[in-house]
Amino acid sequence: MKRFDEILHQGYSQSFEVTDVLFHEKTEHQDLVIFETPTFGRVMALDNIVQVTTKDEYVYHEMLAHVPLLAHGNAPEVLIIGGGDGGILREVLRHRKVERATMVEIDGSVVDLCRKHLPEISDGAFDDPRTDLIITDGVKFVAETDKRFDVIIVDSTDPVGPGEVLFTESFYADCKRCLTPGGVLVTQNGVPFFQAQEVTNTYQRMGKSFADTGFYTAVVPTYVGGFMTLGWGTDDETLRDVDIEVLRVRFEISSLKTRYYTPDVHRAAFALPQFILDLMTD
Ligand code: SAM
Repeated sequence: MKRFDEILHQGYSQSFEVTDVLFHEKTEHQDLVIFETPTFGRVMALDNIVQVTTKDEYVYHEMLAHVPLLAHGNAPEVLIIGGGDGGILREVLRHRKVERATMVEIDGSVVDLCRKHLPEISDGAFDDPRTDLIITDGVKFVAETDKRFDVIIVDSTDPVGPGEVLFTESFYADCKRCLTPGGVLVTQNGVPFFQAQEVTNTYQRMGKSFADTGFYTAVVPTYVGGFMTLGWGTDDETLRDVDIEVLRVRFEISSLKTRYYTPDVHRAAFALPQFILDLMTD
């Protein structure tokens, strides 16, 4: 394999020069490849769609973890759905107030192979005593569990294959059922420049369960197309607008060392460009 061409978007793809293929097989659920590149370090793709690279993973993992946790302010119980590479788990566990991180991942091979070939991404998080790793379908877990969580983070693949069920109205309703009062749900919601319908769908479907549904953004180089939207659902409308001084104090106290997240970037991420606002229609 000399190059890897991603096939996520019709008529457009990003292409990586490949210097070495570390693993490439079909797991029980998806085609998994991990390869070395000169530009983005190691890359993991599922069903030919880039999931994570060692060069830019910090952007997405910091924004999908720290924004809800610092906005909420006191989340001892966190649920992660998906997130097989362990990057979200790593960032969540950096918050000392987190007492337990329950991670529900459908494909155990993703966890095993990322621990082996991309250890710097989970950075020991799977061995943290606060980690509770459950290998099952996230949609089944939220439908059946009697546990409650203060923050739910859906770090899923795109709505194709096993990830499709994590973008439905009933899934969001079950996430709502599993949240403690004032809890917040955040989700991976694609790149609106290419996946505009995902914004409208999520806004409508999540909106059926939450008083405040919307998005915030991050810019991840290998999720091509500019802004990535991250879904936001909560009944506490104040959580999207936490005072900058409060965020700064919480950030300071948590002594997080980040490379993308700052309290100012946190607040700015909720200021959406007009083309994304226009997609948020009932
Ligand atoms: N950051 C990436 C992105 O934005 O596309 C996602 C990375 S993470 C590897 C995606 C994970 O979601 C994978 O490990 C995949 O196995 C998992 N996944 C997909 N469908 C799932 C489901 N129904 N329940 C639980 N995990 C699921």
